[in-house]
Amino acid sequence: MRGRFAPSPTGELHLGNLRTALVAWLAARAVGGGFIVRMEDLDPVTSSPAHAARQLADLAAIGVDHDGEVVFQSTRFDLYRDAIARLDAAGLVYRCYCTRREIREAAAAPHGDALADGAYPGTCRDLPEARRAEFERDGRRSALRLRTAGEHYTVVDRIAGAYTGTVDDVVLQRADGVPAYNIAVVVDDHLQGVTQVVRGDDLLSSTPRQVHLHHLLGFTVPEYAHVPLVLAADGTRLAKRHGAVTLDRLAELGVTPGQVVARLGASLGLCSADERVAAADLLSRFDFHRLTRQPWQPTLT
Ligand code: GLU
Repeated sequence: MRGRFAPSPTGELHLGNLRTALVAWLAARAVGGGFIVRMEDLDPVTSSPAHAARQLADLAAIGVDHDGEVVFQSTRFDLYRDAIARLDAAGLVYRCYCTRREIREAAAAPHGDALADGAYPGTCRDLPEARRAEFERDGRRSALRLRTAGEHYTVVDRIAGAYTGTVDDVVLQRADGVPAYNIAVVVDDHLQGVTQVVRGDDLLSSTPRQVHLHHLLGFTVPEYAHVPLVLAADGTRLAKRHGAVTLDRLAELGVTPGQVVARLGASLGLCSADERVAAADLLSRFDFHRLTRQPWQPTLT
């Protein structure tokens, strides 16, 4: 059994991220499992080593420890490209020349089949050779996409329950040559021996795609648990713009990391908000069944 927390170092972790990290850590450590942290810094523009360092310090401050060295995805492009090459050898990869705008327009046009939100409408899937040559001549950059055939999967999530989704022709490599999130996450969860994926429920809808990739690559599919949203006072998804939602800002207001742990634990039904507890004290109390599926709206200050 091995769990993980895999943040993107694109900013400070907020309470929603910290709560997800705590659940992931508790779920793994409560049963004596391993736990790793992976930095998903695929995007060189939005990620930074400074954010990664800050995030690691914040995880340590709330008592979320990890085994071994932290892996950085930016150093592992070869591994993701190897996996894409394997899919390509199986005839499952094609070049897509579409711009974002073209995809939006094509997806908005009437279709026989209902397309999942944000799903690629398949414009370049069977592109005639002449058209492809034309795009190449015009110097258009191409992304690599997975060729799918409407496969669908039901994921039995430890928190969200059964979730069924249809896979789409997900991007494997972006037009700028950077491997895409969905392939990187699947390759790394496999290579790092992750057996349990606990993360925010904004990624629930991506899970069928990842299960499909695990199957295609012959990997064992991990168990999934998607942690419900954390909402701000205005009812929208918690974000940094909501102010006092990072350890740094809360510290300025006199809220210690220990108090944050207690409040996160209380939101998970594991302790009361004013109890003096450390993350490790919650281990024996952790149980997926106790977690609420409702969004949490914190009142921290
Ligand atoms: N890096 C992703 C994020 O921070 C999470 C990916 C995952 O847990 O699968 O949103």
